[in-house]
Amino acid sequence: MHVNFLSLTLQGESPVIKQGETSTLCWQWLAEGILALWPKAVYRQAVVLSAGLHGNETAPVEMLNQLVTELLSGQRPLAVRLLVIFGNIPALQAGKRYLHTDINRMFGGRYRQFAASGETARARQLEQLVTAFFAADAPDSGVVRYHYDLHTAIRDSVLPRFGLLPFQSHPYDATLLAWLDAADLDALVFHRAPGGTFSYFSSEYCQAASCTLELGKARPFGANDLLHFADINRMLQAFISGDTRPVRRQTAMHLFCVVHTIIKHSEIFRLHLSDDTPNFTCLTQGMLLAEQPGETYRVQHEQEWILFPNPQVATGMRAGLLLTETTPEALSMV
Ligand SMILES: [Zn+2]
Repeated sequence: MHVNFLSLTLQGESPVIKQGETSTLCWQWLAEGILALWPKAVYRQAVVLSAGLHGNETAPVEMLNQLVTELLSGQRPLAVRLLVIFGNIPALQAGKRYLHTDINRMFGGRYRQFAASGETARARQLEQLVTAFFAADAPDSGVVRYHYDLHTAIRDSVLPRFGLLPFQSHPYDATLLAWLDAADLDALVFHRAPGGTFSYFSSEYCQAASCTLELGKARPFGANDLLHFADINRMLQAFISGDTRPVRRQTAMHLFCVVHTIIKHSEIFRLHLSDDTPNFTCLTQGMLLAEQPGETYRVQHEQEWILFPNPQVATGMRAGLLLTETTPEALSMV
């Protein structure tokens, strides 16, 4: 396929030929911005790589496009069954986070709770396609399922590159954790409750080992220096090509778990942080953080770290996460 997957997607076009093969792999265009690739040789893993659920987060979309180009040209071997997803096409075309409602709050059937829009329809379609993709291997095939959902942050961050692991009641996949470590991430954040994210969906409903990856700060298309994302890119390339796991070069990752989610319940909502507060800013016990009718939140623990503070969200949505630092032992990661 000598076409540019990303250009076609952004132009709102489908390729005339929707499936094909090279000497080593087969590919199929399943829907707008959704491409399946599978090796002709035996594989042991089924992997979903998604990006652009938020339309202003362009760097990971460019990264996946480059990966697809390398796979189709034969430059890079494919060792896994792979589904590549560009999430919110109209938002990518518009360069906006979303047009109507944030898709990454809608998974697990939550799209039914929002006013119908292109985004609710897309969330439903993504759920169906990912479910079908993973179900294509028989349960006794031994094929292990992975999902990396790639994002970039809007704000600065004390710890710029991190992974968010969805809540799950079974232990986290050791292979996933080892590869996240190899990506030279600065931190991992463990959710402690179900949510509407894509990675929670694939973990809970498809039994995949899933992670949301935050790669750094977003820029418009063409303005991203992909070198900033070289470590994560190298990890993903090695993961899907069946190469040896890269060796970590940074100090150990910080580990956090979510201890509180601030939900905005009212238009009269105040978050006592400046607008440019970086992610992972440390807050001290007793500090008055959020106020709205009938509810105030003060920092409970000796130290809590703020993630994704945003008082501008719609009512009913998350205005910030509070984290405490944890250890591998506490997370049963050893
Ligand atoms: Zn995002």
